[in-house]
Amino acid sequence: MNPEKIIKNINKISKKIGREVRLMELCGTHSQTVARYGIKNILPKNIKLVSGPGCPVCVTDQSDIDIIVGLANAGISIAAYGDVLDVPGNIMSLSQARQRGARVFAVYNVAEVLKLKEKYSDIVFFGLGFETTAPATAWAIKKGIIAYSLHKLFPPAMAALLKSAKTKSTSPQPSPYKGEGDRIDGFINPGHVSAIIGTEVYKKFKAPQVVAGFEAQDVLRAIEMLLAQIVRKEKKVENEYCRVVKKEGNKKALDLINEVFEVGDAKWRGLGEIKNSGLKIRKKYQNQNAEFIYCDLIEKLRSKIIEKPSACKCGLVLQGLIEPKDCLLFKEICTPENPQGACMVSVEGACNVEYRYNNAKCKS
Ligand code: SF4
Repeated sequence: MNPEKIIKNINKISKKIGREVRLMELCGTHSQTVARYGIKNILPKNIKLVSGPGCPVCVTDQSDIDIIVGLANAGISIAAYGDVLDVPGNIMSLSQARQRGARVFAVYNVAEVLKLKEKYSDIVFFGLGFETTAPATAWAIKKGIIAYSLHKLFPPAMAALLKSAKTKSTSPQPSPYKGEGDRIDGFINPGHVSAIIGTEVYKKFKAPQVVAGFEAQDVLRAIEMLLAQIVRKEKKVENEYCRVVKKEGNKKALDLINEVFEVGDAKWRGLGEIKNSGLKIRKKYQNQNAEFIYCDLIEKLRSKIIEKPSACKCGLVLQGLIEPKDCLLFKEICTPENPQGACMVSVEGACNVEYRYNNAKCKS
């Protein structure tokens, strides 16, 4: 459909709705599309877009960074996706550990880890990401690499977000949707994750949802579809990205995940510990599980974690409760060159995206 027609229709439906509508994009790549194409600027004033917990690097808890940094400092070789190296832990980041002599390698894919393993047989891969990257880690584990799994499942985070008291409406013009998650009027569901898990899993969430692709037109169309649901007072899952996302997802990838991982609890930055939201390596592969191999050291490291007070508001940004520019550190102290929080490190992080694409003004 012609983007101009979509925008025209968005304007028409927004007028019909009248009140403020808050839509949350649940994927870091969507946040980038929104910023790159200035989508917020072309939307009617009453339609607000906020970012959610869709950036896997950003939702990694500080204490998990401390553990992996601790392993690196103990002399264990670590391989991690490049964008996680600068995420600050309570004491230091992996980059800082590397500067101090730890063997830390930035990789783009798991095949590079297999190559590194030929030289560093003890190398531990820091497996991180949603259902999108978990199959690659599962494949590498089957090939014999050791991993520390911080992989997370997306639907439990969405459930937590919808249940969180903080996401209830504080607006003087309340949403007509009473109950769960009424502060957010609709969700743009992630395209990559949905390509793996399909669309059926979202049906249990009683909110308007549209799975979208990553072109500007996809995001605009998703907004149009969500607004149309809001007008019709519907709460259903629609698929705008049907050229890639199938109802049943990717069975091969899901089977691989299930073969290597089992579900366990996981800590999420901003959302806290969420039951059954993490992927833990199964006993069958315990000799490739860093948590099993280094359990004593990890326990020792865990007992020493001291949460450092921080002015970083990533936790609130990830829940859509504030925008990056509402953080006092944004652009003043926190920049991609000097990140104070995970949301500024990753190119998919809301603060990083805002910094690169928009000239948002600082609060003070
Ligand atoms: S601007 Fe920096 S310090 Fe503020 S919330 Fe974002 S990452 Fe954290």
